[in-house]
Amino acid sequence: MIAGHALDRGPGVIVVVPGSPAATAGLRPGDVLLAIDGNALPAETALSVPFDAARAHARADMVLDMLTHTGTGVSTISLWRDGVVSTVGMAPLPACPSRVHLARSNQRNAYADGRHVFLTTGLLARLRTDDELAFVIAHEMAHNILHHATIMRGSDVKHGLGRTLGRSGRIVRETERAADARAGDLMIDAGFDPVAGAGVLDRLGGSGLGIDLFAAHDSAASRIAAMRGVVDARRVR
Ligand SMILES: [Zn+2]
Repeated sequence: MIAGHALDRGPGVIVVVPGSPAATAGLRPGDVLLAIDGNALPAETALSVPFDAARAHARADMVLDMLTHTGTGVSTISLWRDGVVSTVGMAPLPACPSRVHLARSNQRNAYADGRHVFLTTGLLARLRTDDELAFVIAHEMAHNILHHATIMRGSDVKHGLGRTLGRSGRIVRETERAADARAGDLMIDAGFDPVAGAGVLDRLGGSGLGIDLFAAHDSAASRIAAMRGVVDARRVR
């Protein structure tokens, strides 16, 4: 399959979003991307190599970096289509700083690693409205925007039980409150209702969710009240 679709030459295009820079440039599903401004894109490894999730993520990040570092100028994309190499010019647009991934797992979990946002199918299945889903994604995305993973590593925040105590606990609570506040702003900008979304904390809070969403151990009621404060502050502005 890899060789048959020329994916041993570079990443393949599966979908082109209508109206996107890729669509404007004339990219099509089935195209294989070979290079950006003459820099070769990483090819898929051979089937004989065992699948390595870390390497797959690193490869995806490398492709993203190459696309991101083109800035807002027009880049030359070399591509492989129907056995022929051709080039197109593509002008990128600034967009979302995090990619959001759905992980197949029965655990009810969501987390952010500084760059990516992950939520599990187990958590998704418990969400009832788009506002609730937007709250989960916005909260995790806020951790990335506010560089919390870097802050946690730099401050040597403890894991496990130690995470809730003393200095570690204080830093965790501060980052969680900041993530909620930024999430509220992101949700308002995107047209969602932050207070309704944060209601998921109250609804699922008692069902043993050992996840980032409850890392701060502030009560659901106080977090929803704080979210109401974010909405009120935006009305005043
Ligand atoms: Zn959090």
